[in-house]
Order: sequence, then C-alpha cells, then structure tokens
Amino acid sequence: MTDLRSVDDAIKQILAEIVPLSAESISLDAALGRTLAETVYATINLPPFPSSAVDGYAVRGADTQAAPSRLRVVADIPAGQTAEKPLEGGQAMRIMTGAPVPEGADAVVPVEATDSMWHVNDDDEALPDAVTVKEAMSENANIRPVGENIRVGDRVIEGGTVLRAQDIGMLASLGIHTVTVHQRPSVAVISTGDELTSITQPLTPGKIYDSNGYTIAALVQAHGGEALRFSPVKDTAAEVEGLFKQVLDASPNILVSTGGVSVGKYDVVRNVVEKLGAIDFWRINLRPGKPLAYGQINGVPFFGLPGNPVSAMVTFDVFVRPVMMKMAGLKTELPLAKAITAEDLTSDGRRTYARVKLTRQDGVLHATTTGTQSSGALMSMVIADGLLIIPEGHTHVPAGTQLPVRLLRDLPE
Ligand code: AMP
Ligand code: MG
Repeated sequence: MTDLRSVDDAIKQILAEIVPLSAESISLDAALGRTLAETVYATINLPPFPSSAVDGYAVRGADTQAAPSRLRVVADIPAGQTAEKPLEGGQAMRIMTGAPVPEGADAVVPVEATDSMWHVNDDDEALPDAVTVKEAMSENANIRPVGENIRVGDRVIEGGTVLRAQDIGMLASLGIHTVTVHQRPSVAVISTGDELTSITQPLTPGKIYDSNGYTIAALVQAHGGEALRFSPVKDTAAEVEGLFKQVLDASPNILVSTGGVSVGKYDVVRNVVEKLGAIDFWRINLRPGKPLAYGQINGVPFFGLPGNPVSAMVTFDVFVRPVMMKMAGLKTELPLAKAITAEDLTSDGRRTYARVKLTRQDGVLHATTTGTQSSGALMSMVIADGLLIIPEGHTHVPAGTQLPVRLLRDLPE
C-alpha cells in the first residue's frame, strides 16, 4: 500500500475542472498548426465550372468520331477567360488547362492528338484557322466536371483538426480567409530559488543559472501555447507574492512555477498560493517528480512543479501538457510508442519515467537507459530519445519486457 496519489487519479481530478478556451478568428496566413474550432463546409463547388484538364482544343466528341477530322478553330480560351459564344458543330476552340470549357463542347482534345503545336510565349504563333484531330474523343474526355472535387455543402475539414499545409490550401481554394480556431493557452512560467541567476548575469559563488524557466517556456511553445517567462525570484514570501501578483496582471490561462514546493525550510511557494487562492499538495506515485502542488488563483489553474530540472520536465509533460491540450480543444491522451527493454531495470514501485536511448531493429524499438537517472541531471534528458514508462508496482523489469515510451524526438525509420 502507498499513501501516494496515483498519477491517473491526479490527472483526472485536474482535468475535471478545466474547460476549453473560447474560439478566436484568425487570418488563414497564421493558421498553420492551429486547431480548427468548427467544422468547415464548402460554400462553392470545386471546380466551380467545367474546366479543361489539358492544353488542347474544345470540341464536340461527335465531330471527332471519323478520325482524322478537320475542325475550324473559332476562338482561343486561356485560363481565367470564358468563351464569348457557344461552340457549334464542326468547330474547335483552343483551350488551356484550367480554362472553362465553352458551352456546346463536350470533350477536349489534347494538343498532342492534333496537328497543331504551339510554343510558350511565341507571339508569332497565331491561332490556326483549322485543326486536324487525329483521334476520336469520347464524351467528357479531359473535362473536369463542376464539383468533381468538392460540392457545395460537403464537410471539408472537421472541427478539432490541427491544420496542416494542405488543409490551409483547401480553405484557400474555398475563398475562406479567416478561420475559427481554439485559443492558444498562455502559460506564465515562474522560477523560484535564492540560488538562481538570470542567464544574462555573471555567476557568483553558490549560484546556478535558471534553466527551468527556459525549459518550461520551450515546452509550452512546443505544445502550441504562448509562454510568458518571468525572471527568477528569491525564496521569500514577499518576493514570490509580489511576482505572482505581477504575473496575474498578464492574465495567463495557466500558472506554472518550478522550485520551492518541497519540504525545504525555504519552500514558500505553497504558502503564497494558499494566501492568494487555494492549493492542494500531493505526493504523487511518480518518479521523478513526487511532490506536486496544484491549485487555483482567481480561477487560474496553478502547478507548482519540483525544481529539479528532470522532475520539472516530467511533471510538466504528465500534468500540465494535458491541461494545455484540453484548453486548446485537443485530445488529452499522450501519444505513446512501445519499446523492448535491452537490460534489466529496477524501480521503487512508483510509476517511473526512465530516460532511454532508443534503437530500431527490424522495426522494433529497443531501450537502453542513458546512465545517470538523477532528477537533477538535465543532461540525461539531452541524451535521451524517450521516456520509458515503468508502471506502478513494478520493482524489477527483466530485459526483453515491452513497455510504453514517450518519444522525445523523431526517430529514423
Ligand atoms: P527545489 O525544488 O526548490 O528544492 O529545488 C530542487 C533542485 O532544483 C535544487 O538543486 C535547485 O537548485 C534546482 N532548481 C530549482 N529551480 C531551478 C531552476 N529554475 N533552474 C535550474 N535548477 C533549479
Ligand atoms: Mg529551492
């Protein structure tokens, strides 16, 4: 038995209180990677008119059946222009790919199937008086009918889709220039600790640089959020409280601090958050990252993550990331791969996120630990390809066991 709270229970309780952020309307130019808030339906047909699929001559198929046939060329239709008159029997109109097929025509002869050749930008190449069509054309040959790709009213892109280049191009094809997307969560990132020095200042004895502020801000950005990173503050209630008030003025959607939430003499963050709002302190059945402070200030969710750099990253991934995802209208489950352990592993029975190197052999991932698993050693994350998850209750994992793994980079196939 354990007095530690399970990871899954804690996530469930946290997510129950989170509501998705409202939608916002943005320019299509800024929409890559954003999550569509509403399903988009087509308001026009694509193509909007019957268009030619080739460069050639618009004809009546019936006129070409006794191939070769000689037809009178009566007009030229470049892309973007429409014919002034309908095509009549015995006639042909020169037409370019994407140009509207004239009324009266029911096929397009590719230029290669005629005796006519033209040269790009050759001003002397006058429209010929007549053209010989060498092959019989069936009805609708080389014509893209109206609505062949998309019809008015079709569901084009589902709400909840993370927009990719092709989705953005599709929206542009429909003339949609603003899209309704979920807001990006803005996340305030706070570093606490007397020992912390801003990276622009010289290091003095006993001090270290504030790395968590940068790691956490980068994780926020990597998961589609906007990071508001603040300079580190000292472990005094007055300084921490002053900073929290300043942070709240920026109206973030989530507050994340690192450091100062453990049981150390100078761990003041909990008291300050309790004074300004409400807080729960949980000892989580998780390694690294046992202590987690969670609460709200003015309705804004607050996460007090441990200061150890690896613990801060893991607890962010496990607890903060799903909250960002829910706010952004996305699925909260973490994508996991599977890997086979290449060596015996031990754990203390807490759910363990082990830093591993991954290699692929015959399509299967094999995991080897990165060496030190100290939660203070950020280098173990720099080397790692993934976080191998040893489930709760397992103290000995023999080599050859298949376990879930959170990938930390794209791996070669
Ligand atoms: P704490 O959670 O405040 O007890 O800190 C645990 C460990 O993490 C200590 O070794 C701290 O020096 C280190 N630490 C805390 N905050 C940071 C930070 N922002 N950047 C780098 N290391 C930190
Ligand atoms: Mg500290």
